[in-house]
Amino acid sequence: MFSATSQGNFSVDESGYYGEFGGAFIPEMLYPNVEELREKYLSIIAQEAFQKEFYELLRQYVGRPTPLYKAEGLSARYGAKIYLKREDLCHTGAHKINNTIGQILLAKALGKNKIIAETGAGQHGVATATVCALMGMECIVYMGKHDTERQKPNVERMRILGTTVVPVTSGSQTLKDATNEAMRHWISHPVDTHYIIGSVVGPHPYPDMVARFQSVISEEIKVQLLKEEGTENPHKVIACVGGGSNAAGAFYHYLDAPEVELIAVEAAGKGVNSGYSAATTALGKPGILHGSRTLLMQTEDGQVVEPYSISAGLDYPGIGPVHAHLFASGRGKFYAVTDEDAMQAGVMLSRTEGIIPAIETAHAIAVLNQLELSSDEIVVINLSGRGDKDLQTYIDWGKY
Ligand SMILES: *Cc1c(COP(=O)(O)O)cnc(C)c1O
Repeated sequence: MFSATSQGNFSVDESGYYGEFGGAFIPEMLYPNVEELREKYLSIIAQEAFQKEFYELLRQYVGRPTPLYKAEGLSARYGAKIYLKREDLCHTGAHKINNTIGQILLAKALGKNKIIAETGAGQHGVATATVCALMGMECIVYMGKHDTERQKPNVERMRILGTTVVPVTSGSQTLKDATNEAMRHWISHPVDTHYIIGSVVGPHPYPDMVARFQSVISEEIKVQLLKEEGTENPHKVIACVGGGSNAAGAFYHYLDAPEVELIAVEAAGKGVNSGYSAATTALGKPGILHGSRTLLMQTEDGQVVEPYSISAGLDYPGIGPVHAHLFASGRGKFYAVTDEDAMQAGVMLSRTEGIIPAIETAHAIAVLNQLELSSDEIVVINLSGRGDKDLQTYIDWGKY
């Protein structure tokens, strides 16, 4: 999993780029922090002791390997062999913990004893607070004040876990302001603090680092599918994309297998052209967001457009540079799913398989309606998270 070098056309190159996307566009004050990470991350995560501890925690604490479940009801409905990779069964209810486990071990290896993170909906904040409690590290999570009011249960989860949640009152009081505040904190505490980013975004080496920690998803799929179907490679792998970490993990070991179609699903919100959307590849142009060059939704003069999706985890104006490259190169196929179609797919999956998905994940399910499938086709959908956190959104939508 963690070879010390990357290979292949879709991995990061020596200078931190995926094709024309990626890099590290950071204020000079942040350079020493990011440079320390860049110099050390590959050699640390390639160490046997590191990997032993990582896999042991994934097994004992997170509950991996997660099942690759053959969804018979869904398969019958869509006329293909559909498997669900059950990341919803991970501790804390989604894939995000794979990354926070990896990064907290890295922080330890770097001699850091304090952690900071930013969070929008609070899912990454909870995954970070969880591993900090586990490792006895001090944790501060920056969250836009507006988001702390919208996402009260996650704020309280973090606080129960012993994390300090700092409401950020600048700007629009949402994720981008929280990110700025976390950066500011990191600049003034470079020696003892590690900044845990929650998706395959941010300056190099974050996108590559997070993708490697999430790559356990496709590593397991290969072994599990071989057992079920006699082949490691499905015809299609489908995942939703906010920043793109669950998709990056599900795609990772298939990037250089062109016979495996990689399908990424973004949030169309109220419709791609409605003005309320987060469909970055449909609407975005190249620009700099959170320290990397990527595709992002922006106005003519380069102002970031406020994204919209019913699912908080997909409500992001950009995508990670690896996905921008998969899109631009044609290696990945990108689709967009509206709020309404995602909600309906969430209820459909609940009734067909007895699994209530996170609304982010429901976007990946809904794309089945847009695909031409045949009965001998093997399809793996990454079931990134469970729907418990979204109960109120299901209730407010109400059509079930
Ligand atoms: C956060 C989240 C996402 C979106 O993040 P990615 O980095 O794109 O994976 C998707 N699904 C769930 C359940 C999430 O919590």
